[in-house]
Amino acid sequence: MILEITTFDHPALRTPGARVERIDDSLRKLAADMIETMRAAEGLGLAAQQVGMPLQLFVLDVPQLKKRPSAMRIAGKRADFEALMPLVLINAKVETFGRVHTESEGCLSFPELSANVSRLLSVRVHALTLEGSSVEFEADGLLARAIQHELDHTLGILYIDRAVPEDRMDFSSDIQRLIRPVS
Ligand SMILES: [Zn+2]
Repeated sequence: MILEITTFDHPALRTPGARVERIDDSLRKLAADMIETMRAAEGLGLAAQQVGMPLQLFVLDVPQLKKRPSAMRIAGKRADFEALMPLVLINAKVETFGRVHTESEGCLSFPELSANVSRLLSVRVHALTLEGSSVEFEADGLLARAIQHELDHTLGILYIDRAVPEDRMDFSSDIQRLIRPVS
């Protein structure tokens, strides 16, 4: 089922996600609906906040792109991340490392808007899968950026909060009013 995507000042977008305590049929249904919704909207990721459910849950569908490549390592070995998509990550803990990279980002909750955001190039992720098993991997590039963007959603942080100052000034006053400084 395709769900309605929350936008702009919807309160769910500012609500930090509760930890998922139980992976049951309703959570599996939510994750399946989020994947369907993300794909219908042609997004690379979608967090539960974006369908009005403040939970520590997000889904990803990141392709390998020549211009914005990604990589994944599991136990130090290069992994075929495309074969793992769509990826559902629950209660994710993310450490960032590497150099700072500034690239354009968009968000399904802010249609037709984009802005440059500085993020670190790599992440180390610990999370639960929908099967309830724990996963640990490292990612670089666009995949690492998408993970940082979605993790932010689960904390109630939006990419407009992190946009570089020049691009923030280009936002309409309606969008600028929604920015909350990241502490
Ligand atoms: Zn987003």
